[in-house]
Amino acid sequence: MERTCFKCLDEIKGCFADEDNISNPPLNATYWTTYGNYGSSVWDSNDYYLEIYICDECLRTSKATVYKVRQEIPKLVVETWNKDEKH
Ligand SMILES: [Zn+2]
Repeated sequence: MERTCFKCLDEIKGCFADEDNISNPPLNATYWTTYGNYGSSVWDSNDYYLEIYICDECLRTSKATVYKVRQEIPKLVVETWNKDEKH
């Protein structure tokens, strides 16, 4: 299966040789999933979720529009992602 970056459309290879295996993690990229959410008029999941790939370079250059979130039960902590921060 050919995978491309959601933003720049560059091809994304897998970490391992088996390119047809969907479980092959993307190399120099991340994958993102959504089941949809209340309020979307585009996607409302039933049995499927959506998955996209974003190459590391596009993620790096778009940090200002990405939120870092971690769960601190019972709340979520949401921070901006500092452009100079590695992770
Ligand atoms: Zn990209």
